[in-house]
Amino acid sequence: MTTSVTRREFLALAAAVSAAGCAARPQAQDRAAGFRTLGRTGLRVSEVGMGVMLSRDPALVAAAVDAGVNYFDTARSYMGGRNEALLAEGLGSRRHEVIVASKCHHLGSRQRVIGSVEQSLRELRTDTIDVLQLHGLSSRDQVLSEEHQGALAELRKAGKIRFAGVTTHSKMVTVMDAAVEAGTYDVVLTSLNFKSPPEVLAAAQRTAAAGLGVVAMKVMTGGYTAEPVPGLNPYQSALRWVLQQSGVATTIPSMATFEQVREDATVMGQAFTWHDAAALRLYELAVNSRYCRACGSCSGMCPSGTDLQAALRGVMYAEGYGEKAMGRRAVAGAGIACGDCGRCAVICRFGVDLPRQLSAAWGLAHGPSA
Ligand code: SF4
Ligand code: SF4
Repeated sequence: MTTSVTRREFLALAAAVSAAGCAARPQAQDRAAGFRTLGRTGLRVSEVGMGVMLSRDPALVAAAVDAGVNYFDTARSYMGGRNEALLAEGLGSRRHEVIVASKCHHLGSRQRVIGSVEQSLRELRTDTIDVLQLHGLSSRDQVLSEEHQGALAELRKAGKIRFAGVTTHSKMVTVMDAAVEAGTYDVVLTSLNFKSPPEVLAAAQRTAAAGLGVVAMKVMTGGYTAEPVPGLNPYQSALRWVLQQSGVATTIPSMATFEQVREDATVMGQAFTWHDAAALRLYELAVNSRYCRACGSCSGMCPSGTDLQAALRGVMYAEGYGEKAMGRRAVAGAGIACGDCGRCAVICRFGVDLPRQLSAAWGLAHGPSA
């Protein structure tokens, strides 16, 4: 997708950039080396971690290690269950140099969680997972479940995991607050980016202040393409924006190409500047009407039962990440149905163009699968 930027708008931004020069804000001391502490785990993590989900080549993992990345995020469910093995292959004998985070989506009982983690250990070819997270939680009950917490405690006692966490991209405030309340989690992985609602940013700060390590995902608001402007890279700017937010320990941008590994790793230790502000001003023109902030406000509002947020997530996977099959799966889970009630035109508090996005979701659900 391209975005049209008027000449006037571009000149105004260019003037602002020029006036500000290249001066960077003073950097906090612990940023100098590009590493931070992951909450009470005490682990020193690179500011830019690697989201392995979209990586198809193990050599990308090795390239990220070479570039100074030491935090690697995968999940039992990614790539149809093959992503952990790809990470293990990419790390090879360098497993001990890095921190491996994975996720378990088999929830509901102690046995399911433990069985999933044991499978992850085999796929990752490791004796212990550094950070094991319950995957995609969206309710307080899931976070506070005694079955879940009991399973994690048992795994920890057995040395199969070192630290426990939760991940969330829906009802994030509820999940983060519950994770703090539980007192048994060490890490929260949440959507966080320059388009996040203020309440999500505030919840992430509370979470970090309570001692949990906060890891940011979806930092590039879906990776939509914007009109290129010489000298400005919106993806690096989005990364620098998240890293200047108080409480964020690390980030896990997806790295699907060697160029992305280079681009993302370069950001470590860098400050957010006016160049970045200009780049994000332009980038938001590309994402404003497309990127769902996952605020949850439209939950249950479709009288035909469509899970609007899930449908939009599917479209983002297909259009932003370029992962059509993944998008189709997310859309399938959204139960798309429409009785043309017309509410979509006005529902979103952030101005996401729901009719347009749902039409794309419908196309994904019913279009050719190739
Ligand atoms: S579509 Fe809009 S209202 Fe619904 S969750 Fe996304 S940002 Fe919130
Ligand atoms: S227009 Fe269709 S999809 Fe949108 S809220 Fe109404 S019934 Fe649901």
